[in-house]
Amino acid sequence: MKYYSLNHKAPNVSFKEAVINGLAPDRGLYFPESITPLSEDFIKNISQFSNEEIAFKVIQQFIGDEIPKEIVQQIVSETISFDFPVVSIDKNIGTLELFHGPTLAFKDVGARFMARCLGYFNKENTNKVTVLVATSGDTGGAVANGFLGVKGVDVVILYPSGKVSDIQEKQLTTLGQNITALEVNGVFDDCQDMVKSAFLDTEIARQLTSANSINVARWLPQMLYYFFAYKQLHKEHSKIVFSVPSGNFGNICAGMMAQKLGLPIQHFVAATNVNDTVPQFMVEGNYNPKSSQPTISNAMDVGNPSNFIRIQQLFNNDFKNLKTAFSSYSFSDNDTRDAMKQIFKNSGYITDPHGAVGYLGLERHQLKDNEYGVFLETAHPVKFLDVVESTLNKKIEVPTHIQSLILKEKKSIKISSYHELKTFLQSN
Ligand SMILES: *Cc1c(COP(=O)(O)O)cnc(C)c1O
Repeated sequence: MKYYSLNHKAPNVSFKEAVINGLAPDRGLYFPESITPLSEDFIKNISQFSNEEIAFKVIQQFIGDEIPKEIVQQIVSETISFDFPVVSIDKNIGTLELFHGPTLAFKDVGARFMARCLGYFNKENTNKVTVLVATSGDTGGAVANGFLGVKGVDVVILYPSGKVSDIQEKQLTTLGQNITALEVNGVFDDCQDMVKSAFLDTEIARQLTSANSINVARWLPQMLYYFFAYKQLHKEHSKIVFSVPSGNFGNICAGMMAQKLGLPIQHFVAATNVNDTVPQFMVEGNYNPKSSQPTISNAMDVGNPSNFIRIQQLFNNDFKNLKTAFSSYSFSDNDTRDAMKQIFKNSGYITDPHGAVGYLGLERHQLKDNEYGVFLETAHPVKFLDVVESTLNKKIEVPTHIQSLILKEKKSIKISSYHELKTFLQSN
């Protein structure tokens, strides 16, 4: 499969090059040259297939013959070796739980898939590649865990000291092996700036690669969530509406790719916190990126969502068509806390702040009689323990493997300037 840059000023590349480059040289996002729908029979009979079989069928065309079939099968089965249950919340609402992976957030799937693809492509290469990533919380943990033990790849994670939750910090700093955590004296934007400087620094950029959500190998496997939900629901519900808590809009864009592959989905709602660049776009038709505002659903604090351009491409930049398939609404932290309380009161279900924003999206959409709404629960509530416990006024049970994580010893290297990052990268 070939990929082109959405800025149209860079050469088309193979899947392998797209994964290794991350972003095209003209700073554009890569997009597949063609998208071929799956057969109607396959979709009608989806319940007869295992998740591994579905995953292979869905992802295969985007890799083509660049990785042998048996290895792709192995990569996808390792990637999705946990559950993706839809849990009923109400008569016409369910939640798709995406937090059963090792770091309790949905980013595990993309990170694990990308790690394995990069590991495969780097097999013959004797030069080590360093994956450099800045995190405000969830990305770092998922990337570190996904790449743990992958040969030929070192991972260096920058995180802002004191600005991530305890569990998130332990997920970054206790793995060892090929994972190093750099604790930056600053905020997330400082980490991001240092990573950008490294990619522009010709003395070290050659051996670096990124693992953020614009990489096709992190983006595309997220299509699977929608197929797995459909498999569980389609016998009873014909009109499924997905509401996706969105930040960089990679997850929802993957859902829209699934629809393009022929998956019958009635409507998409992108639910955001007060970072409302896309909801405003859907009202006015003007795209005005802003700087991000901090919220309690911090994994979605994004003022300029990188994947929205891919969504527009899926609709050939036709605003009217986009509007019939897609809505987007924004919610405040107060709305979010009220939703967490309301869901808990009505059904006993505990949502994390991101999932609660997804629930609000369904509420705003106003499901019609024959529609079934699914909001994506993108992180386990224990990852946001303070917010959840203070909102629900209730102690949350921490799973045993997280309790043992909290007891592990943190190992990080403190840095406070780009110079220190560069020295570290050059000495390794
Ligand atoms: C990353 C993240 C999101 C946002 O996903 P995008 O693909 O960036 O829209 C939502 N919830 C959680 C918990 C996340 O970690």
